[in-house]
Amino acid sequence: KPVVLSGCQPSGELTIGNYLGALRQWVAMQEDHQCFYSLVDLHAITVRQDPKALRNACLDGLALYLACGVDHQKSTIFVQSHVPEHSQLAWVLNCYTQMGELNRMTQYKDKSQKAEANMNAGLFTYPVLMAADILLYQAERVPVGDDQKQHLELARDIANRFNNIYGDTFTVPDPYIPEFGARVMSLQEPTKKMSKSDTNPGNFIGLLEDPKKITKKIKRAVTDSDEQARIYFDIQEKPGVSNLLSLLSCATGKTVEQLVPEYEDKMYGHLKGDVAEAVVAMLTPIQERFQQYRQDQAFLDEVMKTGAEKASAQASGVLSKVYDAVGFIARP
Ligand code: ATP
Ligand code: MG
Repeated sequence: KPVVLSGCQPSGELTIGNYLGALRQWVAMQEDHQCFYSLVDLHAITVRQDPKALRNACLDGLALYLACGVDHQKSTIFVQSHVPEHSQLAWVLNCYTQMGELNRMTQYKDKSQKAEANMNAGLFTYPVLMAADILLYQAERVPVGDDQKQHLELARDIANRFNNIYGDTFTVPDPYIPEFGARVMSLQEPTKKMSKSDTNPGNFIGLLEDPKKITKKIKRAVTDSDEQARIYFDIQEKPGVSNLLSLLSCATGKTVEQLVPEYEDKMYGHLKGDVAEAVVAMLTPIQERFQQYRQDQAFLDEVMKTGAEKASAQASGVLSKVYDAVGFIARP
């Protein structure tokens, strides 16, 4: 079976963007792939986190993976910091990555603009750690949202570079970006992507949010003011309305082409009402399952423990190969 790796940062509550762009694909892929799904807490501290909130977000994330349908018996679910090989390989790969390459990364540019006082080196080398996450498992496919395409390209470049110097060491990974839902946009600023760490909670919908609050947020979503307030799909001219149509499509399984004629004579309010209803219907069963998993700490511990063991077993072999390739003496 081809190997798959992906992860989410416990940098806040997972959003419908994370679900549609990533998690939903994870679930679909676990039948015919060997999957590794991580909570990437090492990545999360590139932005300042409150320790207690981080621990909570990690456990919430774990319970949410399970509630969304990731099966701990089919897939390996683990916490990144439990598998030290990630940090170890990241250091090596840092030495095979050029400053110029990292300087071109748009996520770094975006996040460092917001970071202001905390422009730490981790924010800059984030993509190298991500490359390590992927290459450590010889992953062939990486299901991610559209925003991670550039980082994946870099992971491929690093793998190829290393292979060219030392001979075949790493599998070169391919991105796996869904056709729909790969880029869910912010509700208030529909020209930028929805992000769980957004400082304005009006911009995102968390997977655990109360249905009333979800409905309120969707009703308040920015639509586009042209004279006729018509509903049609055009990302350039109508980013807000197009985002709502995409969401409705993802949540109902209907295509945007099917949906648009249904709203020909309707108003924004109708569309928003339908989107809210569909999103709530999509999230309700997830929220119910979440409650059960989240309360069962012993079970979560067991999932983390076996996940870390399985992940380590894979990761340690690849790390040894890399250490040997670069010329480190084996520990006697
Ligand atoms: P943060 O703001 O802390 O970076 P995030 O919402 O961007 O949080 P990540 O943990 O960085 O979430 O990303 C987890 C996964 O979710 C990645 O595969 C990413 O591509 C995907 N993803 C993130 N945001 C979106 C979005 N708006 N639409 C689709 N996929 C997304
Ligand atoms: Mg992100």
